[in-house]
Amino acid sequence: MSSRSMLSVVAIAATAVALPVVAAAPSDAAPVQSAPTQVTAGYVGSVQEAANNKAFYDAVMKSAAAKRAKLGNKTAAVTVVYSTSRAPSFRTQIARSAQIWNNATNNVTLTQGSNYDFYYREGNDTRGSFASTDGHGSGYIFLDYQQNQQYDSTRVTAHETGHVLGLPDHYSGPCSELMSGGGPGTSCRNPYPNSTESTRVDSLWANGLTSLQH
Ligand SMILES: [Zn+2]
Repeated sequence: MSSRSMLSVVAIAATAVALPVVAAAPSDAAPVQSAPTQVTAGYVGSVQEAANNKAFYDAVMKSAAAKRAKLGNKTAAVTVVYSTSRAPSFRTQIARSAQIWNNATNNVTLTQGSNYDFYYREGNDTRGSFASTDGHGSGYIFLDYQQNQQYDSTRVTAHETGHVLGLPDHYSGPCSELMSGGGPGTSCRNPYPNSTESTRVDSLWANGLTSLQH
């Protein structure tokens, strides 16, 4: 992870725990951007917007493809590696989400590991759970404690993971859609993508790989 992306993450983390935000560093400070490129997509409609999902997908795809290129194996299935070390309370839900997506798709595989492409975090945030990236190959999924008590936690986790795989929010959809997120309300406990969503992920990863192989 670059020092720049670390700075972005630190800045976001400070906001999330509502620490007093002192006027940021003086003008001679290092290259901290005043307008961070951090983008987000949430479980409920309050966070974000759709173009951001594409940026996140592009970043994760780029990171995964770079690792794949390094291995010199152009035909291997794409593996996206995640870390749960910063979301210890949600390891069960994260593992289940990964299994759900792995069962539902063919062109991308989620696996836990140390050399990760993205990671999960947990904590309290008034925005609820969301997916975020700096747009440069690293990103994270934030899992909010309160929201995960109100809503089915595996559905929340699988939904946010759907953003990593390239799917946008569709809050007006039914409970049978994973990316409808909090739209259908707290009684919706479905953690599975429907066939349209699974097919779209497979299509995104197949096409994405093709376009990255210049
Ligand atoms: Zn969402």
